[in-house]
Amino acid sequence: MTERDKTIFDIIDKHYPEEISFLPVISPFRFLITVMLSASTTDRQAEKAAEALFSVFPDEKAIASADVSEIEVLIRSAGLSKAKSRNIKGTAEAVSVSGIPDTMAGLMSLPGVGEKTASCYMHSILNRPAVIADTHFVRVAARLGFTDTVDRNKSATEIRERFPENMWSRLSMALNLHGRVVCHAKPDCQSCPVSAICPSSEA
Ligand code: SF4
Repeated sequence: MTERDKTIFDIIDKHYPEEISFLPVISPFRFLITVMLSASTTDRQAEKAAEALFSVFPDEKAIASADVSEIEVLIRSAGLSKAKSRNIKGTAEAVSVSGIPDTMAGLMSLPGVGEKTASCYMHSILNRPAVIADTHFVRVAARLGFTDTVDRNKSATEIRERFPENMWSRLSMALNLHGRVVCHAKPDCQSCPVSAICPSSEA
């Protein structure tokens, strides 16, 4: 971490003091499935699909016993329903047998659980340090010069190498919020608290 990184982090950290609740935690398993459903769609659509799914199949055992086609119909509003329904059933089967893993590697061994889903689970359920590289985070991290990539997995790796572990979760929250509020696809650099030191500033 450079001096400039630390200065940018301190400014953004103070600017966005609140924590983000990515998705509601009704149960760890439901949270995991809801994050899986949120791939390539909005949190709202993912929650809606999770509500439909869990109202019919309330836990991992029920989902593991369901037909993929039944799951697919219930989660259709979240998009990519063919792949998501297969992965959700596979994950439910694995969790029914062995429980939900408590490591990144274990989580990522579940069908359809990628780095972002595993990181969200580590942060929100296990309260462990995690870099949550969603669309906003990846965009803002690259613009601030923290990373050289817009690939999610590479971005998360570069951040983990650049910043100490105790900053990962807070950095994830702050950059996500900054991306939602100011550093949009078309950034509002005039309103940005770090525009004076951001290498991508258009102000
Ligand atoms: S100065 Fe502009 S590009 Fe840089 S972080 Fe702020 S809004 Fe984003």
